[in-house]
Amino acid sequence: MALASALILSVLAMSLIVGLRYLAASGAFAWLTERRFPGFHGGRARQIRKEIGWSLASALIYGAPAGLVAWGWQQHGWTRIYTDANDHALWWMPVSILLYLILHDAWFYWTHRWMHRPGPFRIAHAVHHASRPPTAWAAMSFHPLEAMTGAVVIPVLVLFIPIHYLALLVVLTIMTVMGVTNHMGWEAFPQALVRGRLGHWLITASHHQRHHQEYRCNYGLYFRFWDRLCRTDKGLGAFDIAASGADHRADVVPAAAGGASADGAFRQR
Ligand SMILES: [Zn+2]
Ligand SMILES: [Zn+2]
Repeated sequence: MALASALILSVLAMSLIVGLRYLAASGAFAWLTERRFPGFHGGRARQIRKEIGWSLASALIYGAPAGLVAWGWQQHGWTRIYTDANDHALWWMPVSILLYLILHDAWFYWTHRWMHRPGPFRIAHAVHHASRPPTAWAAMSFHPLEAMTGAVVIPVLVLFIPIHYLALLVVLTIMTVMGVTNHMGWEAFPQALVRGRLGHWLITASHHQRHHQEYRCNYGLYFRFWDRLCRTDKGLGAFDIAASGADHRADVVPAAAGGASADGAFRQR
């Protein structure tokens, strides 16, 4: 009985943490967006309400496997999470972070691509694409079935691949920040990075924006290798800030107004 209540408590605590993390991260970037582009969220209250509703439901779902594994870690030593940095070589820290991101990205690419088949799209993925264009609040705006595919990744990985708890925190932070910034409707990273050699392989908002515009391309999460390998990479997208109702139009020249590059991108002054 005590074990069962510890498990329930663990699940509830994880759901609460994921929900609060979502509200804090999306709230912070939505605030930043509004500061940068006043009026950006204007006229989108209905969409944002739905994004928050689906995201909080996803937080509950994410809490279940995370809570189960956290409980198993504490009670039965299930996971390969370690707290003493000397348990593994120091070089393993950055390597484990990269490995987690690469494996998560591969899982995301293939499940995401599968969810773009007509049947799964209607049932599981249309919710995420109902945000047109998405906002920072859409970071976890998923149908419960899609949320389940995302919720299991890290809990399964920690069962098999050793990771220091601080390295795991780094992975979770990257996951959270990229999930929010990729949907917030403008590029937060410097153009030198996005358009440079690194940007050739990394996914930021400019890349994911194009997925939300054209659907059948740019399926990746963190890296562009799967998209490049499978020829689903269509390059970077354009941000039409003017269409969002923002007042701050001078900051951004939409692609159609002459800011386009070969990638169909925008120009930020
Ligand atoms: Zn998306
Ligand atoms: Zn999609």
